[in-house]
Formats: sequence, C-alpha cells, structure tokens
Amino acid sequence: MRIGYGATTNDRRPATRIGYGFDSHEFRAGIPLKIGGITVAHDKGLGGHSDGDVLLHAITDALLGAIAEPDIGALFPPSDAKWKGADSVLFLREALKRVRGAGYSVSNVDSSLILAAPKIGPHAAAIRTRVAELMGLHCDCVGLKAKTPEGLNLENAAIAHVVVLLEKSPSKKKKARKK
Ligand SMILES: [Zn+2]
Repeated sequence: MRIGYGATTNDRRPATRIGYGFDSHEFRAGIPLKIGGITVAHDKGLGGHSDGDVLLHAITDALLGAIAEPDIGALFPPSDAKWKGADSVLFLREALKRVRGAGYSVSNVDSSLILAAPKIGPHAAAIRTRVAELMGLHCDCVGLKAKTPEGLNLENAAIAHVVVLLEKSPSKKKKARKK
C-alpha cells in the first residue's frame, strides 16, 4: 500500500506528518547489547526480534507510522528465521526508503529510553551521533532521554518511545517557469 498523493497534479499531501513508535525487549545474558546502532558494554543484551535494538525498532515504527505503512513486525516478521540476529539498521534503512518514496524527509526525531541498567548517559553522545548518521540528520535533531523504570517493576526490560516529524520534500515535477 503506497501513499499516492505525489502522483497527482493536485498535491494534497500534508506539509508535515508526525510518527510515533514504541518497542520493548527483555534482557538476556550472553548476547551483545545494541542500542541505537552501537554496541553498549554490558553483561546482558536484548533478546527477541533481530539484534534486539529497541531504539532502532521504535524509530523504524515511528517512520512507518508517519506515512501509514505496515509496521516493522509486518515487514520483517519475527517468525521469519531470516531476521534472527539481523542488523536492525536494515529495518531503519527500509523505513527511510519508504519515507522518501512517499515524498517526505525527516526533520527531527525524539526518543525516551527506559531501562534500569546500564546507565545511558555515558553512551548518549555516541548513540545520538550514530542515529543522526543513519538518518542523515544533524545531532541537534536527535533527542535522547534515558529514564529508569521507577515504580514499573520492569528491571529486566528495555523500552523505547520515539516520535519523528516528517516534512514534505519539494515536488520533483516542477512546473515550467513562465517566461
Ligand atoms: Zn524490537
């Protein structure tokens, strides 16, 4: 299902679109911890879908949601062995491709990570830099807040909430200039 507005002469696409993504994974011993496309030193990693990169998964879903495309689980089913241990950068790249295809570019992304450990502060700059690089954004356009799960009784999980803002790209078919 593609957004078809761009193909019409009357471009009725909204100028901006917002997207929201959520993801959670359980910590498991013996696997690397991937957050935002980097490996964070820790004694446990995140299990489940692909490499368990909870932040990239939430960003991917936010991008797909903004253009009303199927979500990450529909595009890359966890039941498909092909995605076991896969690099989540693949999912993000596919979502970005679809955003461009719908005629939009990413303005900024904001995120909240909720996890008891490890502390994200020392890794925040590296995560933001990597996410910015992957998304073609300036670091100043990548927000990252880290929270501990106070009162949630979720010590063994990592959660990510993400919002993205998309802006309509200039139309490729420019009208001929009047002479
Ligand atoms: Zn996930």
